[in-house]
Amino acid sequence: MPIVLDKIDMSLINAMLEDGRRSYRQLARIANVSTPTAEARIKRMINSGFLKKIVPVFDAAKVEHGVSAIVYLKVDPHLVNEISSYLQSLEQIRNVFLTTGEWNMIIRIACSSNEELQSIMDDKIVRQGITIVNSQVITRTMKDEQGFIVSPDIRIGLTCDYCGGDIKGNPFKLKVGEGERYFCCKTCMNSYKEKYGARISKLNNNI
Ligand SMILES: [Zn+2]
Repeated sequence: MPIVLDKIDMSLINAMLEDGRRSYRQLARIANVSTPTAEARIKRMINSGFLKKIVPVFDAAKVEHGVSAIVYLKVDPHLVNEISSYLQSLEQIRNVFLTTGEWNMIIRIACSSNEELQSIMDDKIVRQGITIVNSQVITRTMKDEQGFIVSPDIRIGLTCDYCGGDIKGNPFKLKVGEGERYFCCKTCMNSYKEKYGARISKLNNNI
């Protein structure tokens, strides 16, 4: 778990959370660093996969149309990964949580009507390995924030850009264009260099 967020990252993140439209230059001013530093820090969050996207956030409470429901599932433990990937692929399923206890998965469905909700449950969710234990329609959303609190010393887990394995300890880093690639070992880094050598030098020459 090699990247640890520091105070600069935190100010940048908070400034982006307040207003995701801010430019690198505006973010840099708020965090009291130079524009290239702000840009490099944010690119690092993006390249590591921690910062997935910057998107508009809508107020679900303002939406009068639509139905949202929390559904408790009991999933065959041998099929948890397979079933969770399947559920994640369905657009109407907005959250998938693996949980402790006998009901081991909780999902949230958003769709346009009670009829659609029923048909999603009957046709898409009920299948081998899944039992619907309970479902509750959400009558009103009072608060709906991101799933974790950004706080100092958050550590971002990295995966190797060559083999895809988790990186334990310090990553081997390779500068590519304006960003960085991370590897679990020297062998992976060298294999990556061999495979993408031409592209890497082209990117590095362009900056
Ligand atoms: Zn690797």
